[in-house]
Amino acid sequence: MQKTKGEVISVSESLVGVTNLQGPISNGEVAHISIEDDTRLKAEVIDVKSGGLAYLQVFEDTSWIKVGDAVIFDGQALSVRLGPGILGTVTDGLQNPLYELAKKEWFLERGMEVDPLDNTKEWSFSPMVKVGDVVSAGSVIGVVPEKIFQHKIFVPFSLNGKYTVKHIVPEGDYTIVQDIALLEDLKGSSISLQMAFEWPVKESMPFHKRSVPQEPLPTGIRILDALFPIARGGTACIPGPFGAGKTVLQHSLARHSLVDVVIIAACGERAGEAVEIFKDFPDLMDPRTGNSLMDRTYIVGNTSSMPVAAREASVYLAATVGEYFRKQGLDVLILADSTSRWAQALRETSGRKEEIPGPEAFPMYISTLISAFYDRAGLELLPENETGSLSIIGTVSPAGGNFDEPVTQATLLSTGAFWGLSRALSDARKYPAIDRIDSNSRYPSLLEQDEVEYLLELLRDGKTIASNLILMGEKGITDEAYIRYQKAELTDAVFLQQNSFHDVDGFTNPERLKEMCAAIRQIIDAPVHLEGKESIRSHFNFIRQAFIDWNTILPDDEAYDKQRSKIMNLVKQGLHATENV
Ligand code: ADP
Ligand code: MG
Repeated sequence: MQKTKGEVISVSESLVGVTNLQGPISNGEVAHISIEDDTRLKAEVIDVKSGGLAYLQVFEDTSWIKVGDAVIFDGQALSVRLGPGILGTVTDGLQNPLYELAKKEWFLERGMEVDPLDNTKEWSFSPMVKVGDVVSAGSVIGVVPEKIFQHKIFVPFSLNGKYTVKHIVPEGDYTIVQDIALLEDLKGSSISLQMAFEWPVKESMPFHKRSVPQEPLPTGIRILDALFPIARGGTACIPGPFGAGKTVLQHSLARHSLVDVVIIAACGERAGEAVEIFKDFPDLMDPRTGNSLMDRTYIVGNTSSMPVAAREASVYLAATVGEYFRKQGLDVLILADSTSRWAQALRETSGRKEEIPGPEAFPMYISTLISAFYDRAGLELLPENETGSLSIIGTVSPAGGNFDEPVTQATLLSTGAFWGLSRALSDARKYPAIDRIDSNSRYPSLLEQDEVEYLLELLRDGKTIASNLILMGEKGITDEAYIRYQKAELTDAVFLQQNSFHDVDGFTNPERLKEMCAAIRQIIDAPVHLEGKESIRSHFNFIRQAFIDWNTILPDDEAYDKQRSKIMNLVKQGLHATENV
């Protein structure tokens, strides 16, 4: 096929105008701009105007581009390569592997493109179809073992209609570029398949059958699992002021959430933070296997040298890889940090295109794009009664903590759970600093719903009484109110607060969560017959310390039950105050 050509007419930061188009092109198509020393810079068509004019956003530094430089269009949308070898890798937003480059330097040389997946590695392929079988897009033609799972090799999702298998290779070792099958369509034209294929990043892969996410996805973080849960296939938003514990929360979610695959999209957060992720993750241990967490992780991120356009590409790349693993029947979690930077990139490009701006100069379509991104999450019912899920947790970093700005608002409308990180809580070192009052979720909890309501009411009461205490002092409130306040504080201290760095306390499984909650319920329900703030306070201090100690003991340790009894004995002392004093 003859490729369409054009010529650069204008350069404005990452936006390049192209004229003299000699053929048709379409939005989303990849183009390459040839600059002086035969280097080719990758770009994407973002706006096709009339009169043979179009705009490209360039994924690299544009300072070398000159008016008159030649442009060649690929005739193909920006795509991701899917197949064995994704897990454990780190790439930029265009799927250039960064580890390969990191061996030399952290950054890509100008114009450099590297094979996204290793084309030389051999995988042990077992065929699942035989000659004469009829297959269609998504049919499994074979499997290869990869790290944590059996990687299914699909008939590419982009193929339409039915095909007959004409040839399939026997069991053996093959690379992802070798032909493994030959299919023939009804008209008799044939197509050969390899283990890897491409999919356009901006298009969501159609669901086989979509279902409503309602099964809790345990994260091991108590405040989330109990009060503000996320479901398998659900979405959550974390607005994160700097220093409020975003990184620690992200690590904890990546390590402990009960999913098979974690995808980190570090889309243009401060460059230092992206590099931090690239360096930290390989050192994190997977608590379930004892191996490196990277075995079930894929990281896509941008370094400081990459222009804004690449931020957008990272988000879409992560979503597409997530959908692919969901098709594999796996539970996948995307942690996107931070989607605000992505939106800022869109704002910059939109401004250069001189589009009519919406609120705060963001393009009018920003909320549509954000909701389309979160809509790629979901629970999928696959053939053979399998299910796969893709959950997305995205951070937003609203300037000045102003939640009214368009990106935060659009994200809130598109996500099912809201985890507000609070500066006040992190200043008080109450970690995880997720706001107890302002956070919310529309997914079901691991706990009974009335249990959740009960705890939330206690926390709200506690907050009201706390402000009365500040206003009126201890003398200004009744013992009864003070007891209620102490119960709320205790619940916060022993249940909601959690030390991420502690081997035992750092992760709570659903069973233990329920047991802890039952113990707390006993404490809250027990009447306290003590008089005077001092004795009430010291009563709860003893219980709190005993409970915190209990949180560090494993259930199979003999000290576990003893410590639980100790807590309950302390609780009883409040019932018979007069005899005990
Ligand atoms: P951010 O990424 O938002 O700037 P960090 O995640 O780096 O903030 O957290 C800052 C510090 O707060 C950490 O170094 C750690 O000391 C403390 N911290 C945050 N979350 C927790 C937690 N769950 N348990 C214990 N310490 C925490
Ligand atoms: Mg951080």
